[in-house]
Amino acid sequence: MADGEDGSSADDSWFFDSLAHLTPEPPTKRTMCDRCGRPATVCLCPFLPRQPLQVSTTVYIIQHPHEETRVLRTVPLLAACLPPDRCHVIRGKRFKQGHHPELELMLSSPYTYVLYPSDDALNIEEVTMTTQLANQDTPPYNMVIIDGTWTQARDIYTANEIFHLPKQVKLSGTGVSEYVIRTQPTDNSLSTLETAAVAMAALERRPEIKEVLFAPLRALCKFQLECGAQPHQSKEYLKSRGLYKKPSPHHTPENRRLCKKTSPHNTTGKAGL
Ligand SMILES: [Zn+2]
Repeated sequence: MADGEDGSSADDSWFFDSLAHLTPEPPTKRTMCDRCGRPATVCLCPFLPRQPLQVSTTVYIIQHPHEETRVLRTVPLLAACLPPDRCHVIRGKRFKQGHHPELELMLSSPYTYVLYPSDDALNIEEVTMTTQLANQDTPPYNMVIIDGTWTQARDIYTANEIFHLPKQVKLSGTGVSEYVIRTQPTDNSLSTLETAAVAMAALERRPEIKEVLFAPLRALCKFQLECGAQPHQSKEYLKSRGLYKKPSPHHTPENRRLCKKTSPHNTTGKAGL
């Protein structure tokens, strides 16, 4: 090959040929764990049961679409602990009657309950007393939990009549949430994972269910606190002391991290992750 008009020579050709075979460096990406969905450096799999926990209750999480975008959600941990056919996540805000035949069939079962703490709701312990009298085996319960803020959950429940088909149940005497890295609305509010764990343990009369499901949540909180997250008190607790300040809807996780470093409100333990 003769020297070209651009000044390149035959000696240069190997160089350009080799460049052509180079693939660009992939962007640096955090390796995520397939099972728990966490970054590999803070993988929670050692705290998950080795085998999915065998339970007879099937949990249906009705998830408000905004809930999926939150950081540090507990539903992926719950799903990682249970067999795939025992934990279903259904996202949406509106569920028109007649459009979800399988969901409606499940909601019509006498063994389906929706966790909705209204005045009419049964305590979950009463459920087991009434349904287990005739049959000593645990029935195949379905537990419906609406995942979102209290306002979102109330909106989903009231706007969709299909969720009025099952009886309402509530948890009682649950104590304060151990999910201390996220602000809960009241002292008795639990995260979705905790709610499912307490409900299943009560329905199946197996306290160990709660212990197994709480283990990854406790580990998650420990990791986050060690990384500088501040423990949160409930909104109820903060309001009662005049310390609660409503977060801006535009607060992104990044903004929250910045606030944590600079805002004087951190002294209340509210800001942060
Ligand atoms: Zn993992």
